[in-house]
Amino acid sequence: MRKNTLLIHHKGAFCPHTGAVSTPVYQVSTFRQDAVDRNRGYDYSRSGNPTRDVLEGFIAQVENGRFGFAFSSGMAAVSTCLMLLRPGDHLVATEGLYGGTYRVLEKVFREHGLSCTYADTTDIGALEDALKPETRAVYIETPCNPRMGITDIAAVADLAHEHGAFAVLDNTFMSPYLQNPLDFGIDIVVHSATKFLGGHSDLIAGLIALNDAGMAGRIKELQNALGAILSPYESWLLMRGMKTLGVRMEKGQKTAVRIAEWLCGRKEVERVMYPGLDEHPGADIHRRQAGGPGAMLSFRLRDCCSGKDFVENVSVWTLAVSLGGIESIITLPAAMTHLPYSSAERNRLGIDGQLVRLAVGIEDEEDLMDDLGGAFARCRKNME
Ligand SMILES: *Cc1c(COP(=O)(O)O)cnc(C)c1O
Repeated sequence: MRKNTLLIHHKGAFCPHTGAVSTPVYQVSTFRQDAVDRNRGYDYSRSGNPTRDVLEGFIAQVENGRFGFAFSSGMAAVSTCLMLLRPGDHLVATEGLYGGTYRVLEKVFREHGLSCTYADTTDIGALEDALKPETRAVYIETPCNPRMGITDIAAVADLAHEHGAFAVLDNTFMSPYLQNPLDFGIDIVVHSATKFLGGHSDLIAGLIALNDAGMAGRIKELQNALGAILSPYESWLLMRGMKTLGVRMEKGQKTAVRIAEWLCGRKEVERVMYPGLDEHPGADIHRRQAGGPGAMLSFRLRDCCSGKDFVENVSVWTLAVSLGGIESIITLPAAMTHLPYSSAERNRLGIDGQLVRLAVGIEDEEDLMDDLGGAFARCRKNME
C-alpha cells in the first residue's frame, strides 16, 4: 500500500468486531479476568490498552517498522529512548536540537551519569571526532530546528553501528509521510506526535517506532515501568489526525515552497533556510532521504526589521510555540522555543532575535503571504 492509502487502511483501522470505521475508545483502566492466570490479552491499561494498541501498530506501519509505542508527550518518548542508556554511557547529539531534549539531557540525564557531546552532525567528520570509546548512542534531528540543517541519515547510522552504538532520529519535522529513517538504518525513530501527526494543535503525544525486537522489549518494559503512556481517548484523537497527515503535509509543503521563494526576493530578508531551495546546504542529501522539503522554514531578517516587531505584527499567522497544526504558526526561536539554551550558546548557533521560524498550515497561501507582506511594511515603518 502507498502512503495515503496506508494512513486510512492501516491494521486495525476498521473494528474487527463491529466494522466501525473509527477505532473504538476503550476508556477503561482494568479488565475482568477469566481466571487468576487467564485474561483476554489485557489486564491493566498502563501495560496495554486496545485503542493504544491500534495506534502503536499504526505508527510502526507508517514508519516501516515492526514495533510502535505511544507516550503522553514527545518528551516522554525521547526520555524513554534515553533510558536505554546507563550511567557512564556517552551520547553524541545534533547541536541546536529541540530545546526540551537539550533540557532533559542537561538537567536530568547528566545528573544520572549520562554525558553528552553536541556536534554539528551536518558534517560527518565532526560527528566522528565527537565519538568516544564509551559512546553508546547517536541522536540526530534532520532537518534540525530552526536553521534546517541537513544530516546524512544513512552515513550517521553506518558510523554509529561501526562504533557499536545505536542511532536515534527525532523525525518530528518531516513526519513519516516525508521521511522514514528506519529505511536508512536508524535504530529508533521518535516523534512529538503533538505536531504534524496530531495536526490540529489539540493534543500532546509522543511515538516511537523501531525494528529490533530486543530494544522493543526494553522500551515496552520502560513504558510500563515509568508509566508515561498515552490515554485511550488521546490515542483515538491522534489516529483521527493521522488519517489526514498526507493531505495536510502536501498542502502545507506546497505553500511553504511558494513562501520560501517569495521570501528570497524580499529586500528585508537576508537569508531563507528551507531544504526546498537548491542553494540550501544539504538540499541534495535531503532529496535522497526525504520525499519533500516539508512545511517548516526559517529566515533571517535584515536590520531594517526587528524580529520581535515582525512576529508581533502578523494577524493570520499565529504567534506561538509548536508547529505542525492546521493553523500557520510564527515563532521567534531565540525568545520562545530555544530558551533552554544560554544566550551565548544561542548566539554561537546563530539563533538570535533576527531569526524567524514559520510552520505553514493549510490556510490560503495568498492570505499568508499578504499577512507577511503587511508585517514587513509595518516593521520598516517602525524602524524609520
Ligand atoms: C515539540 C518537540 C518535541 C517535544 O514534544 P512534546 O510533545 O512537546 O513533548 C521533541 N522534538 C521536537 C523536534 C519537537 O518539535
